[in-house]
Amino acid sequence: MKKELHPPYYLAKVTCSCGNAFEIGATVESMRIELCGNCHPFYTGDQKLVDTAGRVEKFQQRLSKVSKKTEKARVSDKTEKVESNQERLKELKKKLITQQ
Ligand SMILES: [Zn+2]
Repeated sequence: MKKELHPPYYLAKVTCSCGNAFEIGATVESMRIELCGNCHPFYTGDQKLVDTAGRVEKFQQRLSKVSKKTEKARVSDKTEKVESNQERLKELKKKLITQQ
């Protein structure tokens, strides 16, 4: 068996940028991390975006514009369908009346 094959094992102190601190087993004595289970958006549920030069805002504006457009298009499609169906009904009624 080789000697000194395994690295030293520490009970490492981990400190997060949010202020949370805990200990884990690791090969380094201490760690500084940016996200932990206390502050990660996946666990907290709130959205925190790192914005560079308003790119996120621009994207959200574009997204809202597109969603409004598609909503209008859907509504107008439905009204057109309803109108065309009503016209068909009228035609069918006329045919029925003329047949009798
Ligand atoms: Zn944290």
